[in-house]
Amino acid sequence: MDKGILFLVATPIGNLGDITIRALKTLKEVDYIVAEDTRQTLKLLNHFEISKPLLSYHRHSSESKEIEIIQLLIKGKNIAIVSDAGTPAISDPGEKLVKRAIENNIKIEPIPGACALINALIASGLDTDKFAFYGFLPQNNKNRKEILEQIKQENKTLILYEAPHKIKETLIDLSDILGSRKIVLAREITKIHEEYIRGNIDDVIKNVENPKGEYVIIIEKSSLNKKEKEIELLNNKTLEEHYEYYKNKGIEKKEIIKKIAKDRNVQRNEIYKYFLNYN
Ligand code: SAM
Repeated sequence: MDKGILFLVATPIGNLGDITIRALKTLKEVDYIVAEDTRQTLKLLNHFEISKPLLSYHRHSSESKEIEIIQLLIKGKNIAIVSDAGTPAISDPGEKLVKRAIENNIKIEPIPGACALINALIASGLDTDKFAFYGFLPQNNKNRKEILEQIKQENKTLILYEAPHKIKETLIDLSDILGSRKIVLAREITKIHEEYIRGNIDDVIKNVENPKGEYVIIIEKSSLNKKEKEIELLNNKTLEEHYEYYKNKGIEKKEIIKKIAKDRNVQRNEIYKYFLNYN
């Protein structure tokens, strides 16, 4: 018996008109629909007069739930996975199930459609040739700052998802760590209150007094060139690490001191004194 197919069906991110003909056809034809929140998906299915058995699958679902879904596919059932909105497996459940299905030689078929990050990016007006998506930043302050330090160096347009009650805090962190950059807040894409707030981070912060709705943050890429990035990385290290970096390149002490002073924009004498007895 042939195995079933796992369809990854994108659903609208606000405007029901964005459902695709293939999405409707697939949802009508599969044996089961796996949904992140079955109540939410029921609303969508009722709107399009589709009636199907629903299976719940969300980020806290147990491994046994995945096995149950895979077993159905192995038995030849066709299954569609949908999330509450947009493309499944993008900051939404689906990724683990896709991996498990592939391990079990199950065919995967994406049914393309709305995805908040792509629509925010194309409407942002920022560069679209290279971009990096980081989803939701970690909640933990230290991990969050670590990631921001990392992405600061990216020479690509950056995309983040954020909940409205955390938007302000995240923008402040972005301003502190990334410095002055253009950003775009794409809000309520495809919905009635859709808007794009464009400007410098600090100006945009002033414009989000009472954030409501759903937001994607698009951030201009780093404008530093390779050499400037290297210097910035070194300046974030200790003086000793900075010294060792040049020493490992075979550079002599006098020259290292000159370079460190230049990188850090300080008097050569200060660095000389610091490393007086250092070899
Ligand atoms: N899988 C979805 C997709 O394809 O974009 C993303 C799901 S993620 C749990 C939800 C986040 O996506 C929201 O917090 C927000 O950052 C972003 N988002 C979803 N719909 C949006 C919309 N209509 N406008 C702006 N951002 C949206």
